[in-house]
Amino acid sequence: MIKTDILIIGAGPTGLFTVFEAGLLKLKCHLIDALPQAGGQCSELYPKKPIYDIPGFPEILAGDLTKNLLEQSKQFEPGFTLGERAETVEKQEDGSFIVTTNKGTKHQAPIVAIAGGLGSFEPRKPLIPNIASFEDKGVEYFIKDPEVYRDKRVVISGGGDSALDWSIFLADIASEVTLIHRRNEFRGALDSVEKVQELTSKGKIKLVTPAEVINVIGHNKVEGVVVAQSQHIDKEFIIETDHFIPLFGLSPKLGPIGNWGLEIEKNAIKVDNALDYQTNIPGIYAIGDVNTYPGKLKLILCGFHEATLMCQSAYKIINPGKKYVLKYTTVSGIDGFDGSRKESPKAVVKAIK
Ligand SMILES: Cc1cc2nc3c(=O)[nH]c(=O)nc-3n(C[C@H](O)[C@H](O)[C@H](O)COP(=O)(O)OP(=O)(O)OC[C@H]3O[C@@H](n4cnc5c(N)ncnc54)[C@H](O)[C@@H]3O)c2cc1C
Repeated sequence: MIKTDILIIGAGPTGLFTVFEAGLLKLKCHLIDALPQAGGQCSELYPKKPIYDIPGFPEILAGDLTKNLLEQSKQFEPGFTLGERAETVEKQEDGSFIVTTNKGTKHQAPIVAIAGGLGSFEPRKPLIPNIASFEDKGVEYFIKDPEVYRDKRVVISGGGDSALDWSIFLADIASEVTLIHRRNEFRGALDSVEKVQELTSKGKIKLVTPAEVINVIGHNKVEGVVVAQSQHIDKEFIIETDHFIPLFGLSPKLGPIGNWGLEIEKNAIKVDNALDYQTNIPGIYAIGDVNTYPGKLKLILCGFHEATLMCQSAYKIINPGKKYVLKYTTVSGIDGFDGSRKESPKAVVKAIK
């Protein structure tokens, strides 16, 4: 049984910043995430994209923001259960909660902070009858490590930012990149569309539109895809490839958390935003993209704010009757759980003779 003060479900930017804010209040955190790495959407969906609206950072790559958040929280020694999905919650007689994952790992805490973002990431899969038998054998719905595709032939399908950006990125890594989209028009950023056009004219990307992949072929691994030209559905041809990567986006699913007895509205958890982002179950909070309240904005900076207020409220539940006086970190410094101490230099008191 893993025991902690605040059990955070979701290691996205909101969950990671919660560790820091809780640490300032001397509360320990443990995070569960279904993904094998921390960072949520930032690391899974757009690690190489610059974000322009993080206060104090005129521009920061989403992957670097994750790195910084991990660095900032490190001194408070958070625990991680990664690659496991939080499935069930049980309230105990002493008021604490036991959260169990799909792999049976049990966690106990007086406070649960759901920072589950869009929920468990479920890729939208194309309706290709035999695709499931090729998953992880050349069919991938996410690109985790671009190096996997070095000197390999890759077919990407999709018409949004992910399909465009990864086609551009892999054009320098893979031996051959084919981008297939069922329309001639793309939904991505204009400069990405222009870049794909440029790389197509240089022969670095093969563009096949309007068309779609209707079958995957191979023995135990992907060896090719069958493509149908949309205008001539009877015109089919095979493209030989090592990888087929359909990038059709994610369908947000709250997943098992949706059955925890929480008030749900439009696939998000309703919270009391007038006070502390607590849900209808006392002791369970919902912060970041996963919650909803009047005026809610699904932005990283809003998740940071919600995490801060939530920790103050959790402190009062964990330390009933104990008064907390807000201190600036510039004044109090930071005492890490790892024994580190950060503080601003003290003023020098010296008489002037
Ligand atoms: C392409 C793109 C660009 C964006 N650009 C910006 C921008 O410029 N500025 C901005 O402010 N925002 C931007 N956003 C939105 C921003 O990424 C989100 O607001 C932010 O990631 C929310 O953080 P979070 O921690 O609340 O949730 P997430 O980042 O979604 O993290 C939630 C985590 O919870 C995990 N999880 C969910 N359910 C479970 C479960 N049952 N068990 C275990 N783990 C679970 C998920 O695996 C995930 O890792 C962008 C989003 C996208 C997709």
